[in-house]
Amino acid sequence: MLLCLLLPLIIVRFFSTREYKNELYENRANDIMLQTEMLKSYVTTMTVSVESATYSTTSTYSYDETAFYDVAVIYDARIAIINSYYVVDYDSYNLYEKTTNLNEAVVSAMNGTDVLNINMDDEYIETATGITNSKDEIVCVIYGMYSCCDITGLCDSLEWHLNIICIIVSIIFIIIIFIYIFIVQIPVSKLKNQMIRIRNGKSDSHIKMPRASFSELSDLAALYNDYVDKTTRLDNNRQQFVSDVSHELKTPIAAIRVLSDSLLSMEDVSKDMYKEFLTDISGEVNRESKIIDDLLTLSRLDSKTENVNILEIKKCNVNEIVSYVAKRLDPIARAKNVDITIKESKVVIAEIDEVLITMAIGNIVENAVKYNKPGGFVTLLVTSDPRDVTISITDTGIGIPKEDLNNVFDRFYRVDKTRSRETGGTGLGLSISKNIVNMHGGDIFVNSETGIGTVFKIIIPLRYISDVTKEGNDEK
Ligand code: ADP
Repeated sequence: MLLCLLLPLIIVRFFSTREYKNELYENRANDIMLQTEMLKSYVTTMTVSVESATYSTTSTYSYDETAFYDVAVIYDARIAIINSYYVVDYDSYNLYEKTTNLNEAVVSAMNGTDVLNINMDDEYIETATGITNSKDEIVCVIYGMYSCCDITGLCDSLEWHLNIICIIVSIIFIIIIFIYIFIVQIPVSKLKNQMIRIRNGKSDSHIKMPRASFSELSDLAALYNDYVDKTTRLDNNRQQFVSDVSHELKTPIAAIRVLSDSLLSMEDVSKDMYKEFLTDISGEVNRESKIIDDLLTLSRLDSKTENVNILEIKKCNVNEIVSYVAKRLDPIARAKNVDITIKESKVVIAEIDEVLITMAIGNIVENAVKYNKPGGFVTLLVTSDPRDVTISITDTGIGIPKEDLNNVFDRFYRVDKTRSRETGGTGLGLSISKNIVNMHGGDIFVNSETGIGTVFKIIIPLRYISDVTKEGNDEK
């Protein structure tokens, strides 16, 4: 992966310096050509008569030495003028004047072909240009050897800088890759392996993330651990519930079996005895059927919780519901010498499922009567604030011990098993009530003192907000 990242960088670096060097040499060559053209204008050609045996004429020329010298200095070049006899008339280095020069480029220019040689390896540009007279005869050649060491220096410095950039970028890449490997890749594969091990049951159910891992990954692991905890809890609860249910259902059946077996084993049983046994059997049958009813209610509520929004919500008068519950339970209360009173309060209208809320309040008021003392009281009060309605159910009964307060809403939980059995309790009433109130977005709170009494407070929002709407708002 590192190579994939660095290879393009190295290629770009190599080609960019090469291209840049070519361009610099080309620009320099163009510049030199212009200078050579200019130098040509500093050479003046003329034709003179020469007294000789053949009385012929010959060409000669003059030049501005200063101009040649200046160009030689500015371009760090050696410039020479070679006449048609290949003799050096001018040399900016003053070394080879009056010597013969048969340089290949000079010979070529003397024969009419100007020369421009770019030699990047030896870092110079060579030029040879012929100067012609009025008869188009070449009278001399301007020869130049221009040093290009400065271009090489510039390119070397550029290369050096690019190398440094390459090294820095490589180091950054390496650091990023290391960070990626240590903070992302290793923890992710660890997470995956642990999940696979947990799935295959080869490890305990919790994922342990290394400290250095991404906080998002740690959050993910924590969420996964929470999820595993929740499913384990649900699984345990389900198992516990199934064993509780079978135990609860078995108890009345066992009692019926004992009662009927003993009845059958007796001889000459009197009519009164039959009646007594059958009454007990009928009581156990009623209990069994009550447990089954409550279980069915719970199961219906659970399926309602899963299939959100199937509550039959409408605006209801909460005071009327409370009055109805009180009226319905009044005969049982009277039988126990318990007085149910409704405290005067203003009318409260709430968006609720009337049948379910009636059941929830009914269970709690029924308990307030059931676990009361003869001559005791049950007081009902409906109050509201701009957000919620509160239904308070206060009794002067036996109360609930502090250590049991947190458990009374658990399924099949009873503070006093025998007493609850006597009163026909299934241990599911409060659990059903809490379920219903929670489905409405509310909650139930309990406060109690043993021997003095208990207060249950049902708090429900006045406006029902469905889980679908809530989820929508949460997403926003
Ligand atoms: P049950 O059908 O046994 O009444 P509940 O779920 O309604 O089941 O109540 C759970 C337990 O909480 C009861 O068994 C009882 O011990 C206790 N409890 C509930 N309400 C009261 C109350 N008002 N006063 C005293 N104890 C109560």
